[in-house]
Amino acid sequence: MTANLLDFDLEGLAAFCERLGEKRFRATQLFRWIHQRGAADFDQMSDLAKSLRQKLKTTAHVEGLQVLSRHDSKDGTIKWLFDVGNGDAVETVFIPEDDRGTLCISSQAGCAVGCRFCSTGHQGFSRNLTTGEIVAQLWFAEHFLRKHLNTGERVISNVVMMGMGEPLQNYNALIPALKTMLDDHGYGLSRRRVTVSTSGVVPMMDRLGLDSPVALAVSLHAPDDELRDNLVPLNRKYPLAELMEACNRYLKHAPRDFITFEYCMLDGVNDQPRHAHQLIELVRHYGHGDSGKGPGKGVWCKFNLIPFNPFPESGLTRSPQNQVVAFAKILSDAGIVTTVRKTRGDDIDAACGQLAGDVKDRTRVGERIAQQRVVMLKPVRTFDVEAKETFKP
Ligand code: SAH
Ligand code: SF4
Repeated sequence: MTANLLDFDLEGLAAFCERLGEKRFRATQLFRWIHQRGAADFDQMSDLAKSLRQKLKTTAHVEGLQVLSRHDSKDGTIKWLFDVGNGDAVETVFIPEDDRGTLCISSQAGCAVGCRFCSTGHQGFSRNLTTGEIVAQLWFAEHFLRKHLNTGERVISNVVMMGMGEPLQNYNALIPALKTMLDDHGYGLSRRRVTVSTSGVVPMMDRLGLDSPVALAVSLHAPDDELRDNLVPLNRKYPLAELMEACNRYLKHAPRDFITFEYCMLDGVNDQPRHAHQLIELVRHYGHGDSGKGPGKGVWCKFNLIPFNPFPESGLTRSPQNQVVAFAKILSDAGIVTTVRKTRGDDIDAACGQLAGDVKDRTRVGERIAQQRVVMLKPVRTFDVEAKETFKP
C-alpha cells in the first residue's frame, strides 16, 4: 500500500520525502501542489524533478473521499455526503456568508458521546476518521468551490469542527489536520478562523492549548451538573467545575480572548429564565481564573444559542422564538455577549445536529437513548399540553 499524502501535515510530508532521499524543501513544493492547487496527479507537478515524480508514483498517492451525494440549499449552503467505506458516510457543509465562507467538517463516523439532542449521537460510534479523511473534506470542498464559483481566489476562510463526531476524541488525527489547515503552505487559515467544538473532553482541551491553540467552542447546554449529565453524558466524567477550569486554562493559549459556549435551546428543558441566571452565576464563579481575561478584565466567554433541530427519536422540541429572545436578553443584560445562531440550509437538513450521514448503529445506542429518555429528563416548568405529551412526566 502506498501512502496517502493527505494524511501528512508539512512536517510529516518532509519526513516522508527524507525517507525517499529528497530534500525537505521538496515537501513544501509538493504540499503546495496538493493543498493550494488541488493537484492529485504527480505528472501535473511540473516543477518537481522527473525522478522525484517517478519515485512518488510508486510510493504515494493523493486520494480524497468519494462523494455519495450533494445537496444545494436555496440560501447557498451546500452539503456533501462522503463515503468513508464499510457502509459509513460523513457529512460536510459549506456555509457562504457576505464576509466569509465557512466549512463545517466531520471528525468521526458517528459519535460515542451520545448527546440526547444530537442525531449523530443517536447513531452510536462507528470509527475515527483518519487525518487524510478530515483534510480531504477541506481539500475537496475548496477546490470544488473554486471551480463551481469560477474563481481562483480562496473560497473557504473559516473551518468549524462541528460536523459529525467529537474532535477531541480523535485527537491524534485531528492535530495534523489542524496543522495543515493553518500552514501557510497549506490553507493558510488563521487560528482565529479555525474552531474546534467539543462537548468537554477536559484533558484533551489542555493538550490542544499546547499543541495547536485554535478557537474553542464548548457545547455547554446546561447550567448545572444534574441536567448536563442527562443531556451530555460526558459530563459524568468531566463535570462542570472541571470543564470551567479547563476553559480558563485554555484561555491562556487561545487565539481569541473568549471561549464560545454553545447552548442548544430545548423547549422546557434548559431554556427557562432561571437557567439563564444560573449560567451567569456559573461563568462569574469560574470566570476569575488567572487567565487575566476574566470578567472585569475583558471578555471571557460568549454565548451562542442554537435553535434545536428536532428529530423524532430525541423526544425534544425546539424552544419558541420568544423564549430564546428572553433567554438571550438575560445573558446580554448581565454583560455576556450572546448571539442566536441563524439556521442555514434548513431545506437540505444541513443545520447543526442534523448531519446524520449514514452510520450503522452498531452499538444500538440510539435505541438505548430512546428507551432512557422518559426517565432521564425531569420536566422543569409547568407544561402545556404539547410538552406533557413530549415528556410524559
Ligand atoms: N462533538 C462536538 C462537535 C460536533 S456537534 C460538540 O458536541 O461540540 C456541533 C454542535 O452542534 C454542538 O454544539 C452540538 O451540541 C450541536 N448540536 C447537536 N445536535 C443538535 C441539534 N439537534 N440541534 C442543534 N444543535 C445541535
Ligand atoms: Fe457527539 Fe457532539 Fe453530537 Fe454530542 S453533540 S453526540 S459530542 S457530535
